[in-house]
Amino acid sequence: MDNLFKQIPSVDKLLSKQFVKELANSVGQKITYQSIQSSINSVRELIKSGTLKNNIEKAIEEKIKTNCAKLSSYSLKKVINGTGIIIHTNLGRAVISKEVAKHISDIATGYSNLEYNLETGKRGHRDLHAEKLISLFFNVESACLVNNNAAAVMLMLNTFAENKEVIVSRGELVEIGGSFRIPEVMKKAGCKLVEVGSTNRTHLADYENAINENTKMVLKVHPSNYRISGFTKSVDAKELANLCEKNNIVFAEDLGSGNIYDLKPFNINDEPKVTDSLKSGIKLLSFSGDKLLGVVQCGFIIGEKKYIDKIKKNHLLRALRVDKLVYAAVEKHFSILLKEEFDKIPVYSMLFKEKEEVKKEIEQFLTLLPPDIAKNCKLVETKGKIGGGTTPEKEIKSMGIIIDNSKLSATKISNYFRNCKTPVIGRIENNSYILDFRTILLEEHKVLAENVISLFKM
Ligand SMILES: *Cc1c(COP(=O)(O)O)cnc(C)c1O
Repeated sequence: MDNLFKQIPSVDKLLSKQFVKELANSVGQKITYQSIQSSINSVRELIKSGTLKNNIEKAIEEKIKTNCAKLSSYSLKKVINGTGIIIHTNLGRAVISKEVAKHISDIATGYSNLEYNLETGKRGHRDLHAEKLISLFFNVESACLVNNNAAAVMLMLNTFAENKEVIVSRGELVEIGGSFRIPEVMKKAGCKLVEVGSTNRTHLADYENAINENTKMVLKVHPSNYRISGFTKSVDAKELANLCEKNNIVFAEDLGSGNIYDLKPFNINDEPKVTDSLKSGIKLLSFSGDKLLGVVQCGFIIGEKKYIDKIKKNHLLRALRVDKLVYAAVEKHFSILLKEEFDKIPVYSMLFKEKEEVKKEIEQFLTLLPPDIAKNCKLVETKGKIGGGTTPEKEIKSMGIIIDNSKLSATKISNYFRNCKTPVIGRIENNSYILDFRTILLEEHKVLAENVISLFKM
């Protein structure tokens, strides 16, 4: 064993080797040095345990290479989404359009008039940027962007009801995945939550009776990720709007997804549109940027100017404000929406794709595989979802493939795909590994095919 330990090269000797110099050139000195150290340590352990008995130098070389690759790889990387869930919160929610990405890059790689007024040559305001296009699109007086919808709700509450009371129906005290809970947000915003009604039924009188001189807001919350069915009643937004107006109370809504589309053709009747809420008289609305709206993470607050102006004066906004890249993304996104070029927005093109079209894409994909591998990829009907806490019960009919490898279980196949250089995330159903193609982009087909081919060569 001593003899084996003596075969471990010194750090200096390793540093003078050609392959190490090449590694240092490609990933940098720091990562290379760290990889050398940890490789020597792990080879020592392998010798000690008797696992490694010869070819010490070779073993070290291989370890250094794999350690360098591991240390220099990104933590956040592209993955291929074969789950069929369009707005998958764990996989980064909405995929943004190429045009939006290009515009972000244009703004990011140079200077911009982020807080500079080009007309006066004086300091300007960042929160004016996306406002014009957002307001035009939704037909509202004013708009404001913040970090996400959680921040938007917090800011609305804090601006109008700090140390005061906010009425919410018990049926709307939601918890959204990732620890967004209305009662907790309310507390952090400094407001007192007044719950009215019961879990399944709330009447106008419940709201009326709860109003006193401390009441500053009525908040409606879209129960994004759950549905109460059966013996239920909620109060019509128009009636609530009247009640709030009469009592000089702000009527606000947390809409969650910010849906702009009529989803009834997809058999989805319970995802309200932003315009529906505005029509029913809600004066202040918030929703996410990266759910059904299909752009980057941010929170929208839209509505009457007198309210938005007040929000813009709240010092909390300074802590919740968005970066210039978000303004760039949102402006481009809304310029596309205003031209009604919905097919340029991935969330919509994925959602509106007919099952037959998905099937055609799969058939095209299968031509990239050698026939003996393609015959192990069987077409299946699948059920996808919108995701992102939107219409939880609705499934989207879709198509996928079952990858059938007699040598490997579905779990093993899943592990293999997760650990590919471009990881692939699929689903296991009844011990079968399934990839739903609704959420797989055409430009990902080539890499996916390579991954599938190497799976069968294992
Ligand atoms: C998703 C959601 C939120 C949180 O939005 P983020 O943009 O993730 O902060 C808040 N309220 C509702 C009703 C939601 O659906």
